[in-house]
Amino acid sequence: MGNESNDKAAVSNFIRSIIDKDLENGKHKKVVTRFPPEPNGYLHIGHAKSICLNFGLARDYNGICHLRFDDTNPVKEDVEYVDSIMADIRWLGFDWQDKLFYASDYFDRLYDYAELLIMEGKAYVCDLTQEEIRAHRGTLTEPGQNSPYRDRPAEENLDLFRRMRDGEFEEGSKSLRARIDMASPNLNMRDPVIYRIKKAEHHRTGDKWVIYPMYDYTHCISDALEGITHSICTLEFEDHRPLYDWFLDQLPVPCHPQQIEFARLNLSYTVMSKRLLLQLVKTGVVSGWDDPRMPTIAGMRRRGFSPEALREFADRIGVAKGNSIVDFELLQFCVREDLNKRAPRVMAVLDPVKLTISDYPENKVEELEADNNPEDPAAGKRLIPFSRELYIEREDFSETPPKGWFRLAPGAEVRLKHAYYVTCKEVVKDESGKITELICAHDPASRGGGTADGRKVKGTIHWVSAAHSIGAELRLYDQLFTLADFNAMEEGKDFLDYLNPESLKVTTTARLEPSLAKVSPGERFQFMRLGYFCADDDSAPDKPVFNRIVTLKDSWSKQAGKAD
Ligand code: ATP
Ligand code: MG
Repeated sequence: MGNESNDKAAVSNFIRSIIDKDLENGKHKKVVTRFPPEPNGYLHIGHAKSICLNFGLARDYNGICHLRFDDTNPVKEDVEYVDSIMADIRWLGFDWQDKLFYASDYFDRLYDYAELLIMEGKAYVCDLTQEEIRAHRGTLTEPGQNSPYRDRPAEENLDLFRRMRDGEFEEGSKSLRARIDMASPNLNMRDPVIYRIKKAEHHRTGDKWVIYPMYDYTHCISDALEGITHSICTLEFEDHRPLYDWFLDQLPVPCHPQQIEFARLNLSYTVMSKRLLLQLVKTGVVSGWDDPRMPTIAGMRRRGFSPEALREFADRIGVAKGNSIVDFELLQFCVREDLNKRAPRVMAVLDPVKLTISDYPENKVEELEADNNPEDPAAGKRLIPFSRELYIEREDFSETPPKGWFRLAPGAEVRLKHAYYVTCKEVVKDESGKITELICAHDPASRGGGTADGRKVKGTIHWVSAAHSIGAELRLYDQLFTLADFNAMEEGKDFLDYLNPESLKVTTTARLEPSLAKVSPGERFQFMRLGYFCADDDSAPDKPVFNRIVTLKDSWSKQAGKAD
């Protein structure tokens, strides 16, 4: 991605204004941002917003964006997540070049800085348990109480801290705390814990450490060590900013990055917390992190969303200072816009009923020409086989059509897309009354549209040639949840109480035009009048599987008046 995308991405926002000023007055010469995921789950669409923001700023200002794994909690982290995060960022179209870092790379320096704080009387070893610390912490209206260990002499603290490091103490029995102010109106400043004992194996440092630094302490120092200029994070860290600045003010770090907060992305009908997403995976509610119903980047990729659509979405929502919920429809809009330009049109019948053209020769097969994409002349044309026996959509026929029905009905005439006009002459049913076949007559002069007498038909329907069509499994998705706003969850309810039982419907009755026999996973199409579909990873040449990406905008199938 070069600078050609500047025009669009450079739409101003308050973060860009800060950067513009910093460059203008010489505070910085080069913009350095970072994306700091914790490798404890797959990335979701909220992360995509942060990635587009951080990498987008670096791109537009000719700077650089670091990828840094915030791996300070060995218990929840996993290399599977590290790998998936890197794959997802690359897929989104961004590149950290050689700037790949791990917070764990700084464990030695973080430790040395902690000793420095101790020697300067700015940190102490506390013997209170986690619960006791919480109880001493006070509330928003009441100050906290000093820990009885707060005034330990520096030498004693140093000795204890080193013995913590050497594994002498049990988990939870001691912690290292910053010595700031137990009466601060900001709870984050009330002597926060900066190191805890955790006798856990780390995915990178192995068993070297039994004490691990806390996020607030690690993050600001990592930023400073990497020379980050603008440390952009979500709003919930606003109250942590004084702590971010406090650590950097106390320590001899190479620079002092500026923390800037923006509103996190919330999407309607979607949960975005990794803890909840993990729960969906672990309990088997979804098939995995890449289930096409998941709001993860991996899920959206598998569903068939393109990186371009996700970047466009990130651009459109922009960055703001206030939290809000973005309508899922906007994401779908971006996906449709993108697919409309790039997805070839093909014909597939979801719920087939046989249509026989009684006046069409029995063994004749015509190859009819069809545009691959009317939006894109470069997409070319293809040939579709047409014969006497076809399948059409069961719901495109009505024996007793309501007023304004333009599709097929007894005695009515419709256009078969790319083919002939046909008129329904007879309806065949089985003993149960179910329609099994529609017998029609065709107008040979109407091939490819138009008639000798200039008469018009309003309805156009899609079809496939019965003998040439192929079967496929189609997976039709809907929202995973029935609740739009999870802030409005009823009391005593769990998010799993709002699962949508209809979020996945699998149909194996579909018949597809034969050009779809050889698709590769990830290929996207518009199944005319039905929606956009993407060949799934499970798809095989003899057994195609398609995910429905999105339905068509205005559900043309219900109107059937408009040709494509
Ligand atoms: P979760 O609450 O799901 O665990 P997190 O914020 O803990 O998310 P991180 O891996 O720490 O996940 O996030 C990495 C970066 O992505 C952070 O800078 C964070 O601010 C940003 N981020 C996470 N969720 C969102 C969101 N919904 N919208 C925008 N940015 C987000
Ligand atoms: Mg986090």
